[in-house]
Amino acid sequence: MTQKTILDYRTLETRARRVADEILSSLTGHEVPVLFYGVPRGGVPALYLVLQHLSGVPYEVTDNLAIAEIIIDDLIDSGSTMERVTFENSTADFYGLFDKRTEEDADLGWIVFPWESAEDAGFEDNVRRMLQAIDPNADREGLIETPVRVAKAWTKWAEGYGQDPAGILKVFEDGAGNYDEMVTVANIPVYSKCEHHMADIFGTATVSYIPNGKIVGLSKLSRLVNIYARRLQVQERLTVQIADALQEHLAPLGVGVQLKCRHMCMESRGVCQQGHHTVTTALRGVMKEGDPRAEFLAVAG
Ligand SMILES: [Zn+2]
Repeated sequence: MTQKTILDYRTLETRARRVADEILSSLTGHEVPVLFYGVPRGGVPALYLVLQHLSGVPYEVTDNLAIAEIIIDDLIDSGSTMERVTFENSTADFYGLFDKRTEEDADLGWIVFPWESAEDAGFEDNVRRMLQAIDPNADREGLIETPVRVAKAWTKWAEGYGQDPAGILKVFEDGAGNYDEMVTVANIPVYSKCEHHMADIFGTATVSYIPNGKIVGLSKLSRLVNIYARRLQVQERLTVQIADALQEHLAPLGVGVQLKCRHMCMESRGVCQQGHHTVTTALRGVMKEGDPRAEFLAVAG
């Protein structure tokens, strides 16, 4: 999963001073006292760090976002919190100690602040908070170890992010001989998670290619499916990624990928019928038309 950056107070002090300097230079001619607001939760400690460096400026802290003049957050991530906040108060100035949209901070991954202990800030604490939101009795015996188990399970379900298709698609240059017929592995199990609900997507994949002098071990095709399935996905993209990776690394005459999957986010909520399969197909090269296309579609059934 995503890399973590664990921050120390020294780094934070540097950032807080930088933000304070920016604020100071923007305050020329400003009426005092200045009204500050920290975005819950992380913006609150961030606010007090910044305030330490605003000596000489009369300020007040408010918990009323609507009347705030300066808003502080610990982190501007995608900017969605900032958008929500500035929707409620568009006149205030917004500052973050860190801003993932900048080049400087873009690669920090998952930032852990000192007020979140490395353990608390992790996956498990977030699962614990989810459990508290879902179950009125979240402290009960049966749920105590759940965050640990969920974190462990997600390491598996998301392991595809750390895997590179180039690494597994080592090709045998001359292994194909003159074989130029369709190679197919059918019914490869697919276990993925939809990126809209983090719910299960599962089913099967059929992967075919027509070699152009290069072949791969057949087990590599199911590993390729896994690399892309073990990420947050939509079925359409998953299908296309598998086809494109084969096309890129194997340069075959053609590629066909078909997925038939069930989506628990839809079935379990009654959005679609139980047992209903979504079928997606991606064709490349000669597989796009004519006999190869018909042959693939017949094999994929
Ligand atoms: Zn979904």
